Order: sequence, then C-alpha cells, then structure tokens
Amino acid sequence: MKALQQPLLPGATLGVLGGGQLGRMFSQAATRMGYRVAVLDPAESGPAAEVSTHHLCYAYDDEAGLTKLAELCDAVTTEFENVPAQSLRFLQQHVPVSPAPDAVEIAQSRIREKTFFVQNNIPTNHHCLVSSSAQIDDAFSQMSGKAVIKTTTLGYDGKGQQVCNSADEMRTAFESFGSVECLVEDFVHFDLEVSVIIARDTNGQTQVFPVAENQHRNGILDISIVPARVSSTVCATAEKIARQVADSLDYVGVLAIEMFVVGDDILVNEIAPRPHNSGHYTIDATDHSQFDMQVRMMCGLPSLPVQQTTPVVMLNVLGDLILSDHFSWQALMENPQVHIHEYGKAAARAGRKMAHVNFTGSDADQLLTAVNQYKAQFPGVFS
Ligand code: AMP
Repeated sequence: MKALQQPLLPGATLGVLGGGQLGRMFSQAATRMGYRVAVLDPAESGPAAEVSTHHLCYAYDDEAGLTKLAELCDAVTTEFENVPAQSLRFLQQHVPVSPAPDAVEIAQSRIREKTFFVQNNIPTNHHCLVSSSAQIDDAFSQMSGKAVIKTTTLGYDGKGQQVCNSADEMRTAFESFGSVECLVEDFVHFDLEVSVIIARDTNGQTQVFPVAENQHRNGILDISIVPARVSSTVCATAEKIARQVADSLDYVGVLAIEMFVVGDDILVNEIAPRPHNSGHYTIDATDHSQFDMQVRMMCGLPSLPVQQTTPVVMLNVLGDLILSDHFSWQALMENPQVHIHEYGKAAARAGRKMAHVNFTGSDADQLLTAVNQYKAQFPGVFS
C-alpha cells in the first residue's frame, strides 16, 4: 500500500474519482491553491472535467484508466462513494489513496453502516435487515407502527426508500425495489436534522465544521441553516459523535455525518465519505471550506481550526426551479447577499442538483426570511 512520504505542496497533481459537482468544487479549491487536478469519470464531459487539468474518461473499474490516474497523480481521493472499493484498493498499490477503501466500503452499504454504528456505540435508530417478502411482517412488527424501508445500496436523495405505515405497504415497496436486500428502520419523529462535516488528518487530528441545520424536500436537501438553531448541548453532542465516528474509522479526509435531533439526543442517520451538500455553506461562510480541507487532508497537511465568518443559509437550486416559468439568474446575481455556485450541468431536470446559492449577512433570522421570500416567488416549486 502506497503512503505519503511527505506533504504534497502546490504544483503536485491530485486525482479525484467522480466528475460531478463535488469533484468540480474540489477541483476549484485545489487549482486555486496551485495544484493540478485529474478527474476520472465515465462521462465524456461534466461539472468537474470542465474545470480540471486532466480528464480521464474511463469506467470506475477499468484498470487501464485507474493505472493512468495513478501515473498522473501524487494522491487520489473520491467525490463519489459508490466507486467500487476494489478500484480504490487497486489504486492504493500505486498511489496514496484517502479516505481508505474500508471506510468508503462501509458508507456504501446502509447495513454495513448500521452495523459499524452499533459495534462502536454510536447512537442510531432501531433497524433490521430484510431480504425476502416473507420477512416483512416480522420486520414491521419490530418497529413502532411507522417505519422506513431503504435499499441497502445505491439509494440517494430519497430514492430507494419509502415511509410505511403497515406491513402490506412495506411489502409493496420492497417488491417495487426489485426485492433487493433492504434495511428497515424505525421512523424517527425528529425535532430537526443536523449534519456535521469533520476533517481528520494523517496524524488523527480532527477539525469539526459548525453544525448545519438541514431541511429536506422530497428526500432532497433544500436548505442548510448555520449556525443550527439547537442548544449548545446538542451542538456539543453532535461534534462529539462526529469525532467518535471519524476516530472509529481511523479516517483520513473529509467525512459528513447526518443526524436526527430528538430532544437533547442525537441519532446518526448516515455518513458520507466525502464533502457533502450540507457543507456547501462553508465555501462562503467559513475561513477554510470543506473542499479546501479535502485537499489538505489528502496532501498530508494538518487540519486547520475552522471559524465561521458569517451566518449563512444555503439554498439548493434544483432543475425544478431552473425550469420554472419565472426563474432567472439575474435576480440572484443582483442580490448582494447571494453567492452563486453553478455546476455547469448540460440539462436541467426535475430533482437534479444544478447549483446552490449561499445567502450571507450579519443577521441569521433576516437571511432565513430572505430565502423564504425568494422561494415564495415560485409557487409549486418549493411546496
Ligand atoms: P437518507 O437517504 O437516509 O439520508 O434519507 C433522506 C431523508 O429522509 C432524511 O434526511 C430524512 O429527512 C428522511 N428519513 C430517512 N430516514 C428516516 C427515518 N428513519 N425516520 C424519519 N425520517 C427519515
């Protein structure tokens, strides 16, 4: 296994697996600091390729492409958690890779994730595994009357999951997912959802970004509010749990932990082994962004203390908004509180993440009002 011998400094070439918006913002941060970036992505063009020095258009499991990436790069990371762990292990023989394939593999499967939480005393909600219709009645009866069924792999943004109020409903959902292995979880009546982005360096030092309060619409992140409107006790617990997760994984890189807040308690929902949509606020509202930190961590540089520089509300711009009648970038461009991050995707589609905008200003309540007023101009899009 190849390990870094010394920190990588500007001028080095960094590789990223995956060519979406996370790769784009990684590449923007890295190139700003003076690194060169090589993107490996099966698509012929895309958000990351457009702003990177090299684009290798190969499937994630194509050894010829992976070999080229290893030859070009001084270190490799991923923006996409469903890259086969085997590909990361292959790369690791030739070039330093972070996060480690084992950590990525845990995050690729909801059941491996839950098992990891339980084994490491990380609080999570009650759950069980189902792999046939015959197990549904028993699984549902173990929950408290309302449950969520989720495919164990490849679900994202609310896809491959359904809230169920009866075993029959759950059986129909299970079959509609193709009777693949599923996780059944108790429905959590949470007060709110938060997430923590944590950076952990090669020496095991961690830095935690400010806790984000997240609101979803149709299973997709809609807005993040930072600082989160939670007590200092909840904040401290969220940060402690984030450190516990990162340390238990012996993680190197940037890790996102999504959590449910119930009273003063926290239950971990899921983790992502990469920067996260709910950390996009860091680009305009902390002195080092989650992408700056991703660069630093893979380069073997120390994690830095992170300070929030301004209150912020992040609004995701989905294809639904772009395609709506009255949408225009102009109003956003003219608003001095707005920072636009457009991903350069070819076509807008409903539910597709096209951009995000960070509203910053000195008064957190006013920012939320401004975002809500903005959203109110598009009836049907945000309801
Ligand atoms: P996930 O893909 O697991 O992040 O789920 C997407 C969203 O669905 C979460 O952010 C929650 O808003 C909601 N959700 C997921 N699991 C549960 C649950 N067990 N109880 C209540 N809401 C859930």
